[in-house]
Amino acid sequence: MTDCSKAELMKTLVCKTDPKRPSSKVMEAAAEKILGGKLVVFPTETVYGIGANAFDERACREIYRVKGRASDNPLIVHVYGIEDALKLGRFSREHANALSKIWPCPLTVIVNGRGKLPETVTAGLDSVAIRCPKGRVIRSIIKKAGVPIAAPSANISTKPSSTKGEHAIGYFRGKVSMIIDGGEADYGIESTILDLRSFRILRPGAFTQEQITKAFGRKPIIGRLAEGTASAKRVISPGTKYRHYAPSTPLFVYTGDRRAVCSILRPFGKSAAFIGSVESCRMFKGTGVRCISLGTSKSVRIRVHSLFDKLIELDSLRVRFAVIEQFNGKGLGYAAMNRIRKASSHKGFSDSDGLKRLIDNI
Ligand code: AMP
Ligand code: MG
Repeated sequence: MTDCSKAELMKTLVCKTDPKRPSSKVMEAAAEKILGGKLVVFPTETVYGIGANAFDERACREIYRVKGRASDNPLIVHVYGIEDALKLGRFSREHANALSKIWPCPLTVIVNGRGKLPETVTAGLDSVAIRCPKGRVIRSIIKKAGVPIAAPSANISTKPSSTKGEHAIGYFRGKVSMIIDGGEADYGIESTILDLRSFRILRPGAFTQEQITKAFGRKPIIGRLAEGTASAKRVISPGTKYRHYAPSTPLFVYTGDRRAVCSILRPFGKSAAFIGSVESCRMFKGTGVRCISLGTSKSVRIRVHSLFDKLIELDSLRVRFAVIEQFNGKGLGYAAMNRIRKASSHKGFSDSDGLKRLIDNI
């Protein structure tokens, strides 16, 4: 196939494709691998996924092994449409109707049941997470393979998710059968997870609370679990209890006045990095502090889109610690806040003393 190359002792086939018009040869090769029990890494509209045939217990177990994922953290199952979802879980008529109108989109739902899925996929729970993705590459693979695809985000557990082909290649070359490089994922942040049984958001993501309210005619419940400020006493979504999205560099969230951060960080010079909007970065000119720009403060979508990419880039700067500017507001900014709280292990500060305390504990 053109645009494909074999790497690492012929283990991984790496193929480039246009995510808007995926090459049918590449899609057929991917579907064949999935049906042959192999793992394929591919772009979706949210982030990259590492996928296997959801009915293939052995292949699904391999996802956990390759990612280093805890065995009690279930996988999201990706389907082509509502009909396939109805075979895997139990939906009320209203929920099925609402979903048939909005899917495909970046909304994952949790429902009771698991159809013929092996226990490995749901990590022994009697509920299943189902999503109908919009990305053309994953849709095409599901259609050609004719099976649902179990796929968590394509990252080594605890690390930031892949939003570009090069991230996925960095994590998985030599470890999976095929990687499809489709450039940048549209959103750069994972799907929203809505538990349809309690109508509670378990993880905010690319599909906003406002979009859920409009689609279902009802406001979702949002607790501290969705904010990322607490892990549930009784774990409803196992993934929420693990360290997540974290760069190796110690990261702290700045929650104080935007204009004051420059004088707080100035004494650390080039041993510190700051991650924030291009406008905030301008304040650091001449201070030595390394600044990583997420993009314009006018577009939350642009800043969220570059978040994981910049968290991955951060580790190449080899600074002692990094500070990230908080995201404000609703929608994607709310989802991004959940990710950076976890990426920083909930370590935040708003003044020099607060930062000093955090640095003393590195
Ligand atoms: P990932 O695909 O790696 O972004 O993570 C998928 C998330 O979905 C994890 O946080 C899982 O704990 C969550 N999840 C998957 N299946 C279920 C389920 N049946 N009930 C609750 N949460 C789930
Ligand atoms: Mg993940």
